[in-house]
Amino acid sequence: MTPSWWQTLANDPGAERLTPMAIDPHGPITQLRGVGPQAAQSLAKLGLNSPMDLLLHLPFRYQDRTKVSSIADIGPGTEALVAGQIVSTRVLYGRQRSLEVVARDATGELKIRFFHFSKYQHAALDAAAYIQAFGSVRFFGKQLSMSHPEYRTFDHPPPAPKPELTPVYPATQGLSQQRIRKLGQQLCALTWPDAPGTPYQNLRALHAPSDLAAIAPIQQQLATDELSAFYILMKGRAIKRSRERAKALTETGPLAAQLGTNLGFHLTAAQHRVCAEITNDLSKPLPMLRLVQGDVGSGKTIVAAFAAIRATENQGQTALMAPTELLAEQHAQNFKQWLQPLGIRCALLTGQMSAKQQREALAEVAEGTASVVIGTHALFQDRVKFKDLVLVIIDEQHRFGVYQRMSLQGKGGHPHQLVMTATPIPRTLTMTLYADMDVSVIDELPKGRQPITTHTVSQDNRPKLVERLDKVLAAGQQGFWVCTLIEDSDEIDAQSAHSTFNALSQALPRHRIALLHGRMKSDEKVSIMQAFKRHEIDLLVATTVVEVGVDVPNATQMVIENSERLGLAQLHQLRGRVGRGELASRCFLLFKPGVSSAAKHRLNAMRESQDGFYLAEQDLKLRGPGDILGTRQAGEESFRIADLSVHAHLMPKVVQRSEALMAAAPGSKEHAELEQLLAMWAPADDGHLNV
Ligand code: ADP
Ligand code: MG
Repeated sequence: MTPSWWQTLANDPGAERLTPMAIDPHGPITQLRGVGPQAAQSLAKLGLNSPMDLLLHLPFRYQDRTKVSSIADIGPGTEALVAGQIVSTRVLYGRQRSLEVVARDATGELKIRFFHFSKYQHAALDAAAYIQAFGSVRFFGKQLSMSHPEYRTFDHPPPAPKPELTPVYPATQGLSQQRIRKLGQQLCALTWPDAPGTPYQNLRALHAPSDLAAIAPIQQQLATDELSAFYILMKGRAIKRSRERAKALTETGPLAAQLGTNLGFHLTAAQHRVCAEITNDLSKPLPMLRLVQGDVGSGKTIVAAFAAIRATENQGQTALMAPTELLAEQHAQNFKQWLQPLGIRCALLTGQMSAKQQREALAEVAEGTASVVIGTHALFQDRVKFKDLVLVIIDEQHRFGVYQRMSLQGKGGHPHQLVMTATPIPRTLTMTLYADMDVSVIDELPKGRQPITTHTVSQDNRPKLVERLDKVLAAGQQGFWVCTLIEDSDEIDAQSAHSTFNALSQALPRHRIALLHGRMKSDEKVSIMQAFKRHEIDLLVATTVVEVGVDVPNATQMVIENSERLGLAQLHQLRGRVGRGELASRCFLLFKPGVSSAAKHRLNAMRESQDGFYLAEQDLKLRGPGDILGTRQAGEESFRIADLSVHAHLMPKVVQRSEALMAAAPGSKEHAELEQLLAMWAPADDGHLNV
């Protein structure tokens, strides 16, 4: 079904006039002007393979360049558009060579700095009379200045700025913001047949809105569409599933009880209840689809192990999938420790293993000698063949993206599925969002856990914090020091993991410190993590690779660098890496003085509470209308538009509308609407992961 819109390229606002031509929105992206094979490759990295993909590649925020600010009025920590005469340009030779341009308007002077610049750039700035620059303003020494702004030079006073907001898109290496913006403009300049307010027009409007107030209502309409498509898809799957048959895992053996006695701790009442809910499902000839929700540290992994035992006792295999190599590795260790003594063989399969190791694992899985296989999305490859797969477990489900949860289904019959998540979603939402699933909640932490004391610490107090850490590490405890970047960057003023690692290694000479980040080789990561577990490392300086799942009970200290930049959900996940044993833990949220009030509230909420559900609620409250776009949490696969903490209230309407559309007869107007919704929002629903 190809929609009959944007048939011709015309009305290009640029100087060039274009020959009218038809464009296929679902065809190759090279149909767009200026996109050759190389650009197409970079675009593909962002998942952009067709014009339609590009249309759905929405800005995650906007810059307001519609007004020129007076230099005297701009404040630190803001982004501003300034315009003025170029008073001087000179190269400064300090610790780092820089080019300084002084601009003047009627109200004052502003220094603009470039740490990377070319001769030509210098000469051009020198020759020009006027500059218009957009960038963030911050203190440089005692003076306000702008570093590396986007700018244009003129020999006459700069013209008035454009009346639309400037979109900021997710970009990637080899594909600049500028380039994506140009493509967005090209797309918006097409002739669009629909009337304003229709889905495509709404999408187009989000690429170049006139003001922030216009965004929320458009988003709301689109979110309703997107959630409706999702709901319809989920319901469709539930109906399909109810017609399928699965192997009923009715046999019970002695192994579960044996694991219980080996464990060294007692399951909590909540864990017991959830295990019972799972085994009850498994003993039926219908494929289970159950979501286990439980806050960080509530003990979801062991529940998965009990489910795997049931599968084994019925001669079936279990596949456990984790979102990161690190986590897969950790699960493999735990499962081996728990299950191998019972005679249950576990295999590990990740993309980073050597070809030989992979071949061996694959053979074990195919022959059925391994009853449990643990891995990353490498488990999805076609070459992974199971002897008799009866149970699929997906950990940290939210990491895999909302549409990807049905994965692995094609791997032989209809396996039972268990998905686990720490994402706190209110009950009412769960019912609609997981319309196709049964839900269990582990609403209790294991006994003996002590609350994590959380402190907010200004950067200025780093030395004290380091001193304190020195003592705690000396007393035999371990810690994480989490940085948000790997290397220093000009754009984001955050402490990078590398420089932090160097600084801490000097400051804490008597402790064993290691660096862990996502760009390291997988086996390197794994061996560092194992050394940390064995307490051969005292302090792990890491990027957010340690965010999900990592479990080292002796680690009690968590320092989060630039915490003001992170969302509540991510902060909560990171903090959840400590407080997993019986020792009291502490979390230090380092922030830079002068943080926004929203960030202050977030940090305070972290100090006040350790309850994921409470924090999710606070997150929702803290988002104001101007903040709608900026808070999507990094790394979280989510809907394209809908944001549940903002659009939850739409759910009743979504359900009502979707049910009506689903009840409509083929050929009716409603049925056509349903088809259009699915065509636009839902990826091909074949139950496979698109990796
Ligand atoms: P999460 O729910 O975040 O995945 P894990 O499954 O990693 O949590 O469990 C956190 C830690 O708590 C692990 O070290 C695990 O062995 C331990 N644990 C799990 N259940 C219990 C329990 N009932 N009593 C004591 N410790 C437990
Ligand atoms: Mg976990």
